[in-house]
Amino acid sequence: MTVRVTVWNEFRQEHTDAPVRAIYPDGIHEAIAAGLRGAADLSVRTATLDSASQGLPDALLDETDVLTWWGHVAHDDVSDETVDRVHARVLDGMGLVVLHSGHFSRIFKRLMGTGCNLKWREDGRRERLWVVDPSHPIAEGLGESFVLPEEEMYGEFFDIPAPDELVLVSWFEGGEVFRSGATWRRGRGRVAYLRPGHETHPTYHNPDIHRLIGNAVRWAAAPRGAAPTFGNAQPVEPPG
Ligand code: ZN
Repeated sequence: MTVRVTVWNEFRQEHTDAPVRAIYPDGIHEAIAAGLRGAADLSVRTATLDSASQGLPDALLDETDVLTWWGHVAHDDVSDETVDRVHARVLDGMGLVVLHSGHFSRIFKRLMGTGCNLKWREDGRRERLWVVDPSHPIAEGLGESFVLPEEEMYGEFFDIPAPDELVLVSWFEGGEVFRSGATWRRGRGRVAYLRPGHETHPTYHNPDIHRLIGNAVRWAAAPRGAAPTFGNAQPVEPPG
């Protein structure tokens, strides 16, 4: 099965912030997409906030099995209408992989129902990510742990509902820890949150991160059961 993935990015700081543009001259979305395009089982497209329909017209969502989401400074520019449409798609079975500062995106907060706040510090120090569920498909090929030489710190408490599955826990040099790879079921849809990816670090050029995002996309796209019907229902068994 080919998984059709749409890599969405707000794509604002790449225009306004020279250090970000230096690392991601074509946008964070293109770096993420480049990491996925080598895989024969993934069909990859990109979309950005300032395009028509905020990058997510129904025609595109109709052909999207999994959406990845990176946002930071423009969460409030995502319209109610876009949030409603993406939310409905997730409940109907579209996978959603929320990345880094997407923890504060309107769609993630809608799906979680909590504040989704956390501690942060832009010190560009080392992050070690530990696999805490080695049986999980999202952990495939990552080893027991892996390191990002420079990242922003995110620390607990992370105000999310208890994950259905916790796959990764991060350690930071300042002493903090963080639930860095977590999953939830929402309706027929699967939602994953992956922590790494601050815009001033080359995280989305890192092969381990490409593997992690690819794993999460495949997990979020896994086949699932038929669409349920709701409401008043006739018996499905013949009258006795
Ligand atoms: Zn950040």
